Amino acid sequence: MTMRIVKELRSPLNRLFIYETEDNHRVESVFYKGERLCISTQVGCPIGCIFCASGSKGFFRNLTFDEIVTQYELLKDSLPIKGIAIAGIGEPALNIDNVEKAVDYFRKKGLKVTISTTGYPIENFKKLIKLSHNGLTLSVHGILHETREKIFKKKEKLEELIDAIEEHLSKSSSSRRKKFQLGYLLIKNLNDDLENLKLLGELAKKHRFTVMLMMYNRVDGFDLEPVSREKYEKAFLFLREMGIRVTLSNRFRTDKLGGCGTLTIGRKEVVE
Ligand code: SF4
Repeated sequence: MTMRIVKELRSPLNRLFIYETEDNHRVESVFYKGERLCISTQVGCPIGCIFCASGSKGFFRNLTFDEIVTQYELLKDSLPIKGIAIAGIGEPALNIDNVEKAVDYFRKKGLKVTISTTGYPIENFKKLIKLSHNGLTLSVHGILHETREKIFKKKEKLEELIDAIEEHLSKSSSSRRKKFQLGYLLIKNLNDDLENLKLLGELAKKHRFTVMLMMYNRVDGFDLEPVSREKYEKAFLFLREMGIRVTLSNRFRTDKLGGCGTLTIGRKEVVE
């Protein structure tokens, strides 16, 4: 085996596993919803999303194919894993060759595979969207250029990412469109304004994409705040009234242990 589990942390909802690689890096996976394993693809992340703990300690290297699938292999006999979410530490498009092999590997085992990506770099995003996944979330988090500038250290132009999906869909069966959605993580005073939300709604409507509207999970040392529950619900209703299909963060995704954006490298401490 190329990795071993060194620690497991549990909350009433999620189980977080810390792995150590042969060269002493620590990465994480989360088992949530009683059926899905969210796995990592890189040690750290160079995309540097402003809200995310995974990239806050920098980027060290891509995980190998073995290291990606070992996160599942070490747990498959003890947990009822039915699906894999490639949404843990790292940007999957930056490790496209190993992610491509891993998606094939998981699909051959009869597992559902979903992917979350910022779409960087676009050449690899074009390969990612073609894989035999069961759902791909393009994490946009902002529609206005100036908002996206504040959120991502590295990013592609949103219009070009959408064009790449449309180009792929133009050659696919009509049901394939359902496999793509936009991810939008709401952060107070950063991307929760009406202008961004209206543009998000218009974009989703034009392309018939579902919007996954996520709550920001607080991370120690980050100077960001989630929007209030009231504002979150207002944003949801606003998009719904525009005729958009919207899904909300469930309690597994907002759990202090293993919630979106909270996985980290090199964790030693126990989460209180
Ligand atoms: S949200 Fe994903 S892409 Fe952004 S820094 Fe975190 S791991 Fe990287």
